[in-house]
Amino acid sequence: MTIRSGSNSHKDIDKIGRQTALNLASLMARVEYDFNRHEPCLVCNEKYKHHIDGLPCVSDDSRKQIIRSNRWNTHIKTTSARKNER
Ligand SMILES: [Zn+2]
Repeated sequence: MTIRSGSNSHKDIDKIGRQTALNLASLMARVEYDFNRHEPCLVCNEKYKHHIDGLPCVSDDSRKQIIRSNRWNTHIKTTSARKNER
C-alpha cells in the first residue's frame, strides 16, 4: 500500500465515496445474486452475469474479466478430459 501526500485531497474524497458505492454494490450483488444478473456494473458497465464470477467489479483499478460466451466452459471440459486420458 502506498500513501501519497499531495494536493489532490478533493479527488481522494471523491474516490473514497465511489469506492464505498462500489463496495455496497458488490455486497448487494451477493445478497441479491439471483435477481441482479442483468444489472450493469458501475465500473465497466457490463452486466453482472458477464463477469467471471458473476459479481460486479469492486474497484476502478481492478476490473474483472468479462465473459460474454460459454466458450470457457468448453475449455475447462477439454482440460479435464485430457487429464483422464492417462
Ligand atoms: Zn465490471
